[in-house]
Amino acid sequence: MKKLLLTIILIPLLMAETVTGQPVSSLQGRIYTDGSPVLVRIKNGKIAETVPLPPDSSIPQVYIAPGLIDIQINGYMGVDFTGSNLTIEGIIKVTKALWKEGITSYLPTVITGSDERLKTNFKILAGALTDPELKKSIPGFHLEGPYISPVKGFRGAHLAKYIRPPDWNEFIQYQKAAGNGIKLITVAPEIEGAIPFIRKAVENGIVVSLGHHNGSAKDIEQAVAAGAALSTHLGNGCANMINRHNNPIWPQLSNDRLSVSIIVDGYHLTKEEVRTFYKVKGPGKTILISDDLDLAGLKPGEYIRGERKVLLTPNVIKYPAENVLAGAASPLRKDVGNMMRFTQCSLEDAVNMATRNPAELLKLKDIGKIQTGYKANLILFTIKNGEIIIQKTIVDGKVVYLRK
Ligand SMILES: [Zn+2]
Repeated sequence: MKKLLLTIILIPLLMAETVTGQPVSSLQGRIYTDGSPVLVRIKNGKIAETVPLPPDSSIPQVYIAPGLIDIQINGYMGVDFTGSNLTIEGIIKVTKALWKEGITSYLPTVITGSDERLKTNFKILAGALTDPELKKSIPGFHLEGPYISPVKGFRGAHLAKYIRPPDWNEFIQYQKAAGNGIKLITVAPEIEGAIPFIRKAVENGIVVSLGHHNGSAKDIEQAVAAGAALSTHLGNGCANMINRHNNPIWPQLSNDRLSVSIIVDGYHLTKEEVRTFYKVKGPGKTILISDDLDLAGLKPGEYIRGERKVLLTPNVIKYPAENVLAGAASPLRKDVGNMMRFTQCSLEDAVNMATRNPAELLKLKDIGKIQTGYKANLILFTIKNGEIIIQKTIVDGKVVYLRK
């Protein structure tokens, strides 16, 4: 009993210490944009100034960059944001695990589910934001579905029975449950009622993304005219067999007003797709996402997830019953390294695709860049065999992860 009591007292204390971390007033390293030595001064959790330093061998051989921002993450370490047993403790667990991977901001992503589940889970997520430490790393939520294509292949691993046409009044209920926290929604433009829904969402400050759809060129054009700004995991959430001329990929690629989010884990897209998408959209309109599922970070094997049996292999999760991928298991930092290897883009561009670009899409004006007045959400990292290795993660000027 005594031991139990001690554990109960110690756990919150230990957690508080890890969550709070140590404040830092300055950092030295190589700026990620061109590798030159810099000193970054931090004051009151914000970047005060960035000072160039003379070349000197004593400057640590680590890169300094803004913390990674992941706008699509379904869960991590066994915690599922759409699951039936979501808790605030679970959200704390995910956030801390993501800090280790250099993610300082993320949008917990709730996918297609029953009306009750969506309301319940958004309420829990909104509740988590009353924790000031969590709020620092969760600028909002992403709702992927339930207003997507019900057609096999396009719906991916979303359950058909919960997919429904867009309903603004229903969405308002979710937004209320979420404390107005839903910042991004993925919808299919060809579903009846989608275009007016998109218009309304955009008018209400929500970023609309097109995904899990089989929209025609006209549907996509109308959706963009209504304010859709992004394509969710372009090249995925799409049937294996499509018409070579008339398919949803070309019109999204060719539309200059659409940015794209892509999963560059080496499994969800071929190298050639990544290169092509990048050549078309460029470093300003490409956003890297992990799309990690709750199983990310766990041991490979078969798992029952919700009402589905899925197979976790290293870095990717499959849904064998419908022969589709069910999501990824690679942390975002790996996508950054893969992006450089696949496209030969610079470190600066690859990092921007996982920091500046998602922040700009969501109109988050104080994260995603190393600039005076921006939040001191920073990562220090090295690169080994083309992979980003996080050495230190800083949120709001405090160390939240230090590699031992
Ligand atoms: Zn998806």
